Amino acid sequence: MPYLELHDSNIAYKLKRSRKAKTITLKVNIRGDIELVAPSCTSIKIIEMFIRTNQNWIIKQLEHFKKISKAIPQHQYKTGELFSYLGKPYELVVNEVKIKQIHLEQQGNNFLITLPLDLSTNDKSKNIKNLLEKWYRNRAREVIIKRLDYYNKYYKLSYNKIFIKNQKTRWGSCSTLKNLNFNWRIIMAPLPIVDYIVVHELCHIKEQNHSTAFWSLVEQQIPDYKKRKAWLKNNGMTLVI
Ligand SMILES: [Zn+2]
Repeated sequence: MPYLELHDSNIAYKLKRSRKAKTITLKVNIRGDIELVAPSCTSIKIIEMFIRTNQNWIIKQLEHFKKISKAIPQHQYKTGELFSYLGKPYELVVNEVKIKQIHLEQQGNNFLITLPLDLSTNDKSKNIKNLLEKWYRNRAREVIIKRLDYYNKYYKLSYNKIFIKNQKTRWGSCSTLKNLNFNWRIIMAPLPIVDYIVVHELCHIKEQNHSTAFWSLVEQQIPDYKKRKAWLKNNGMTLVI
């Protein structure tokens, strides 16, 4: 991997040459990788100059992603760890007792987990994670249906089915069959954010694109939708279990 000295430190970057590329493009991802795509004939001198010209942006991006990755919970599924539900923290309490079934119960601000005694550490984490996901999926279904009903009293649109999905890169979508799909992870976000996603997908029943007409439809019920959209962009990555 080539590297360049920037701000007294050696910064490594990935360089890909492409016959299709017309200009140099630069990307920094959450892992802190710097990736450059350059037209095949670009000299190293030009590439290095390009990096130096953009060094302030690169450093800003690296710092930004460092902050985000610190905010992403790294759970080991042990007592005392915090999990978010509708924007509020819930503390995990794990009890190992003589039972066969694994069980989750929400009590006040706690998620009480009951586990059989003889599970390996790996099995324990896997079971707790699955149980939490199931719990979140059920809550997501309940809350999303309620909020859809609430907002559709105003919009009066007709949709088909609601699906709670495990999507890696999307918060929701609206299919051509007028089905509404939602990522279960949105239930970890505060309710105003859930509402924004619900209204966003609901409005796609009428406006399939992201046109001005679409956004003004969203705005009728979510006047500060830009703020909520920005929250999701900045915090969405922390919505993990
Ligand atoms: Zn959309």
